[in-house]
Amino acid sequence: MKRPPYGSRPRLSREMAQLSWLASGLAQAGSRMERTYWHGRLQTLVEQLLTAKDDESLNVVLNRLSDSEPVGHDALMDTIESAVESTTTIIDGKPHDVLLIACPLLTWSRYAIPTPTLSAKDQRVLAELLLNTVLTRHARVVVLGMLVGPDQIPREFTQLAALTQNLTQALVNGKAAPLHTQAQEETNRFLSDTRYLIAATAVPKGDALFRWQEPRATGGNSQLNDRADITQLWASTCMPILEPMLAGCRVSAVLPDAFHAACAAADRASRPYSVQACINFLSESIDLPPEKQRAVIGPFHAQRLEEYRIALGPRNEDALYHGVVWPLLGIEDEQTDMVAEIEQVLRAAGVTDIVTHEHRFPMEFCEDCGGPMYANADGELAHLEMPESAAAQPSTLH
Ligand SMILES: [Zn+2]
Repeated sequence: MKRPPYGSRPRLSREMAQLSWLASGLAQAGSRMERTYWHGRLQTLVEQLLTAKDDESLNVVLNRLSDSEPVGHDALMDTIESAVESTTTIIDGKPHDVLLIACPLLTWSRYAIPTPTLSAKDQRVLAELLLNTVLTRHARVVVLGMLVGPDQIPREFTQLAALTQNLTQALVNGKAAPLHTQAQEETNRFLSDTRYLIAATAVPKGDALFRWQEPRATGGNSQLNDRADITQLWASTCMPILEPMLAGCRVSAVLPDAFHAACAAADRASRPYSVQACINFLSESIDLPPEKQRAVIGPFHAQRLEEYRIALGPRNEDALYHGVVWPLLGIEDEQTDMVAEIEQVLRAAGVTDIVTHEHRFPMEFCEDCGGPMYANADGELAHLEMPESAAAQPSTLH
């Protein structure tokens, strides 16, 4: 058998070559007219590949572009995500735009964080709440029957597109959407994690979906269009329904938005939230208040800076009790002043003994348990270890 020369990559199919060409064209376009031209063709091809369930072509081209042309990669990713989370349908004989939305819930708990299913009544009540707080008055909405964890969200583009289609069907025929296959997966166990309420919303073609798209009404009308106000209203009204389902958890709601935008916002918000959760956990579980804690921050590198790892332990001792991984997101890199942000989060939580390392640590994980290794105050890699008194406590809530 003839083997390909060392280091050669598989030949691009005709569709892949075209995908790459259109994405580069879109990324380099100098005018809105040219962008519209490229975008229309790129979108059509992406939709064809999604219909053909061809995740591979999309992933191969994304990988290639991320090495050779990051702007083209972002243009393609943006087009794919938009095609996956949106569709159109006919409701009551009229064309409607449909958008997959996510309502992220940041949670932390000393116990396992559940992934509860929602009764038909809960689904109706939550749909009603979304209409009353986040969505425009002429929107329709249907809610998925489970609060899913990150591992239970479809990973492949075509699986997520199928979820959008299932929820769209549910909107049209008024029946509950079936749970997707990945909903059965186990969730990894973390001290703090995100749960997602997923929904699809439809509006007459071209209409506004979210309240913040509408102009602020003058006079006595109580219409809200400020995102911060809407977040607060959504959080205060959904918590009485969602909190009992997440027994033993502290919960904080992130603004519901288009699926990918909401997930990105949740990833960002979960970083300081996890640090705060870790500090609270040590304070509550082993009676180590923030002022008696020490935080050690280390930058961890693979080819480039990937993440900061923040270990927490007792002040004036070497032990590291618990830790948080703070990944870089989006366009963040070594130039981003992430350390200042992390230190500010720690100080705001009451931790003043902070050791920040500047030299690079390798992305190492424990060979036994797979957990990340952290930097200790001396700048050596170390394993987290809770004191024995805490290990004896039950970790499952009955
Ligand atoms: Zn280990």
